[in-house]
Order: sequence, then structure tokens, then C-alpha cells
Amino acid sequence: MKVELIHVGDELLSGQTVNTHTAWLGESLGAIGASVIRATAIADRSDALITALDQVQMDADWVIITGGLGPTNDDITKTVMVDYMKDVLVHQQAIMEHIQALFASLGRKANDMNLEQANFPSKATVLHNPVGTAPGMLWQHQGKFMVNLPGVPFEMKRLMHDHVLPLIAQSVNQWLDRRHFWVQGLPESDLAMRLKDLESSLSKSFSLAYLPSKGMVRLQLRCQSDLNDKATCLVEMDQYAAVIRAALGHWLFSEDESPLAAVVGKLLQAKGQTLSAAESCTGGAVSSAITAIPGSSTYFHGAIVSYANAVKVKTLGVNQADIMMHGAVSRQVVVQMAKGVRKRLGTDWGLASSGIAGPGGGTDNKPVGTVWLAIEGPGFRWSKQMAFGSHRQVIVERSVNALLHELRWALMEEK
Ligand code: ATP
Ligand code: MG
Repeated sequence: MKVELIHVGDELLSGQTVNTHTAWLGESLGAIGASVIRATAIADRSDALITALDQVQMDADWVIITGGLGPTNDDITKTVMVDYMKDVLVHQQAIMEHIQALFASLGRKANDMNLEQANFPSKATVLHNPVGTAPGMLWQHQGKFMVNLPGVPFEMKRLMHDHVLPLIAQSVNQWLDRRHFWVQGLPESDLAMRLKDLESSLSKSFSLAYLPSKGMVRLQLRCQSDLNDKATCLVEMDQYAAVIRAALGHWLFSEDESPLAAVVGKLLQAKGQTLSAAESCTGGAVSSAITAIPGSSTYFHGAIVSYANAVKVKTLGVNQADIMMHGAVSRQVVVQMAKGVRKRLGTDWGLASSGIAGPGGGTDNKPVGTVWLAIEGPGFRWSKQMAFGSHRQVIVERSVNALLHELRWALMEEK
């Protein structure tokens, strides 16, 4: 099943908005066994859309057009589509009632421009949009399905999930299955060594991809076969998954989409233990990762963002003389930060970070990317110096992941 994408919007070409639709649609369509064969971004101009429609790939089965369905003058998609399909607009009472109800729920009244969205092309099928005013339009044209979706990302995604993906999935004659394995702490080359034999023995419907990011690797085991071979595929998938688990041991921290912070949260909950953090170079990013997990209030008490040395001393009880002698980015200081926050907030575990996230502030001894991390817990003490490169955001993300990774090991080992 082949799909072509056309994204309408000046802002996508001027760089004001990053075109995230291509990536999301590529991923979601790939997940059901359809492939995107071309994606084009075009201006909000009728000639641009007409040219793009004229030039649609012969072998595309579906054409998905996003953006420009709104009520404002710069939204030209509906008018151009109607002309292109030699169609007319017809007032649809059901759409009008939906628009009025949507506005009423916001305590507002729809104006004429909003209500104009109830005029809908007679040859198209309405794709109901429960989260916005512009419905999607589904056309059949020259042996292809063409669909117009709103540009607003959450509306586009909702219409894909509710209508388009199920329709495409029906006609995909392929079986597709994917499993993910999240690994942290093993360099990619070590990982590849452990999986070498498995990779060379995979049957031809299978592939294994390494998707590294932020100091961790997501392994994707993928099977794509004819629908007839589904049963074989499922059996092999389980066999390969067992081999991967055995090869990775504790390095494997998750097999679903759950991030490291969720895995750590489950371990803390199981033990009935609590956590706090003293954050310097991570500036709250550790807390943010932890609190992104629903239910984290049961184990996470809070954090002290101790950016200034004075806060490290006054609030966390770090010894001023140690800061003078060893610097704020040192084992001596980060260990006292972890101890300090653990005591201050009365938790079982205390995490701490102190580093040079750059771009300034590096020295020969401690270049940008130098980060000291520490964990204090019941009968547990860990601290380590890291070198996380020179990109500020990456340094912060890797610090967060490294701390959560170590905490996970500590929680698994602690009796
Ligand atoms: P509206 O009714 O809000 O006008 P619309 O269908 O006309 O919806 P657009 O005006 O094209 O949609 O875009 C609405 C919003 O969605 C804009 O903020 C735009 O930047 C964003 N958007 C549109 N296309 C994309 C895209 N390809 N990737 C990311 N964001 C997009
Ligand atoms: Mg618009």
C-alpha cells in the first residue's frame, strides 16, 4: 500500500513551523504496513496545490493532504479541492450543529466564518472531527483515495486514528509486527557484539534496527510478511525476543514504550520507598522526567534546584570549604548534595547532579560536559564523574538518564 503526502502551509516552507506531520505519518503508516513514497510541502496558494495534485505519483494508492482547511482567507484547500474535483459545496446541517456545540462548550458563539465550515463538498465523505471545527474530506479520484485533514497536529492525528488508519489497514495485505527493547548503559558496539549471532540467524521477514538516543538504545525487532505467514512470524518473534532478553540481561530495562523514569517508579513503588533530588546542572530536568509519570507523587517528594553555591551550602548543608577547595563540580560536593537533599526531604533515596553544561565555564581540568552525579540510599552510595560532550541540552538529558539508570540498578540489587 503506497501513500503520498502533501503538506499545505507557508509556515512549513519559511521555517516558522517544523513539519512534524511527515515523520508522524511515516511512522504511523509504517506501523500498519503501508509505506510513504513521497512527501511534499507546498505554499498556501491554489496553483501550488493544483500542481501538487496534478503530479501525484501514478502508483500511490492513497494521497493524504494536510492543512489549510480552516475558515480564514489563507486557508485555500477546500476551495481548490472543490474546483479540482469539479464539485460544489452543500450545506450540511450535522456539521453545523457540531460546530455550534463545540463553540457552546467553550462558552462562545460561532460566527459566520466558522459556520461557513458547514459547507461541504458533495462528492466527498465527511470524516467527523470531534476535536475541531474542520471535518476531514475523503475523495475517490482516478482509482485513488484522497483525503484532506486539518493542519493542527492533534486534529490531524485524531482523524488518522479514527478514520484513515483503519481504512488503510483494511486493505494492507501484509502482516507487520514490531517489538521494542530499551537498553541503557551498554555502548552500541557492545550491544552489536551480543546480538551478532542473532542478527545473522534472523529469517528473511525480520529485521533488527538500532535506534540510539540520549545515552540509550531502542532496539526494534520488526517482522513484515504476507498475511498468510502471520502464524510463523508470531512464533519466530517470541523466539527472537527470548534470545534478545537472554543476551541483554539487566541492561534491558523496558519492552514497552515506558521510559526509564516509569521503570524506576515501579521499582520504588514495589519497595514502598521514596526519592528526592538535588539538581544543579540538570536544573529541574530530573524532577521533570520523574513527575512526567502519572502516580509519581507516591514516591517522589521533591527537589532542590541548587544552582548557586550559596543554596548548596545553606539549603543542602554542603561544606563551603569543600566548594572552595574542590569546586562545585566535584565528588565531594555532589555527594554532600545527595546526602543533604535526602536528609532535608526525609526520603530513602537522594539523587544529585553538578556539572558544566556550557557553552562557557569549562576549564582544562573540567571541560564542558564534565558532570558529577551521586546517589545516596539505604546502605547505598554511588558517585561518578561523566563526560557528556559539549551540547548543553544533550548534557542535561544524558545526566538525567545516567542518574535514573544507576538508581534502577541500585533498586534491583538492593534486597
Ligand atoms: P485551522 O482551522 O486551525 O486554520 P487548518 O487545517 O487550516 O486548521 P493550518 O492553518 O494549515 O490548518 O495549520 C494549523 C496549525 O497547525 C498551524 O499552527 C500550523 O503551523 C500547524 N501545522 C500545520 N501543518 C503542520 C505540519 N505539517 N507540521 C506541524 N504543524 C503543522
Ligand atoms: Mg488555518
